Amino acid sequence: MFSGTMELKIFDKGFRIPESYREETFFSEAYLSRFIKQRFGKNFGKLLTDIRLTHARQLLGLQDITILRAALESGFSDTAAMNKAFLSENGITPSDAVLKRKLSACPERGFLFILDPETESTDRFPHREGTFMKYEETRKIVLEAIMEAVEQKLINGTSGNIAMRTPEDPNVVCITPSGIPYTGMKPEDIAVVVMKEDGTNEWIDGKYKPSSEVPMHCAVMRARKDVNATVHTHSMYATICAMGENPQLIPITPPQCEFTPVGIVSFTMPGSNDVADKVRDALGEKGRVCLIKNHGMFSCGKNMTAAMHATVYTEEMAKTTVIAKTLGTYEPMPEEAVKAMQALIAADQAV
Ligand SMILES: [Zn+2]
Repeated sequence: MFSGTMELKIFDKGFRIPESYREETFFSEAYLSRFIKQRFGKNFGKLLTDIRLTHARQLLGLQDITILRAALESGFSDTAAMNKAFLSENGITPSDAVLKRKLSACPERGFLFILDPETESTDRFPHREGTFMKYEETRKIVLEAIMEAVEQKLINGTSGNIAMRTPEDPNVVCITPSGIPYTGMKPEDIAVVVMKEDGTNEWIDGKYKPSSEVPMHCAVMRARKDVNATVHTHSMYATICAMGENPQLIPITPPQCEFTPVGIVSFTMPGSNDVADKVRDALGEKGRVCLIKNHGMFSCGKNMTAAMHATVYTEEMAKTTVIAKTLGTYEPMPEEAVKAMQALIAADQAV
């Protein structure tokens, strides 16, 4: 019944049975409606909604497109109309369905889009309410840090990730999950990974898959026993400074001296062991921060406060550098002053 020109137009907003079709077949709209009801067991409006929902599900399942675009391309007037129909049909909102798709994505099997909540649980290591949570304190610190990073606009959306070594076991790391919005996140949503002796990192707890940058955080923590917290952001000014031929950052104010020299890493695919090795090498034995070209920055510290300070002050240094250079007033601290300041900081930290 729905073929040819009718099918082509079915995802247009306001689609109804075309007049030309009624004229060609001599069927009235009322007759066609009755026919549809008898043939499909649902009225024309419901049939149309179902076809559009199937189309929207396919779009959301196969591509990274926005909910709004999926709604409009499927013929819904807006996201609210699609959300309502989607929820009533699938018992899940489109954004939760996309979330499920992302959660069930893993390199070995590619993307898997499951709409029926009964058919697959994404809770690989679900935490049951009221039960003992492993590494609770560390997870809370990671969660607080990521929320602070979001609030300070160091992190947008689901970008960036934060990790911390647990005091219970130096080989266990709590890390933000992959592709999940941070707003509304709970401590149990933070993933737990163990750094194994054979060099691999294994996800051992947390209902959501750990960040794809696990190799980067773990490579630094494996190499640096003094580092217990690591922060990776795509913060705007550090990323701007991570471009160009000579993206060297020099302190403009005294507190920034603690974090220089800032290393630089050439662009390498995110999430790869390659970028992990390069970041580890750029930080060396004492480095606190490095920039990753066309990507962002990576900071570390003896605890979360120190790692967050490194991130905040480096972003500040990058911002003041970019603005001062734009205004033509760029005058960083003299090298001798930076060295003197660094000696003071080291003495203070040694006490
Ligand atoms: Zn990144």
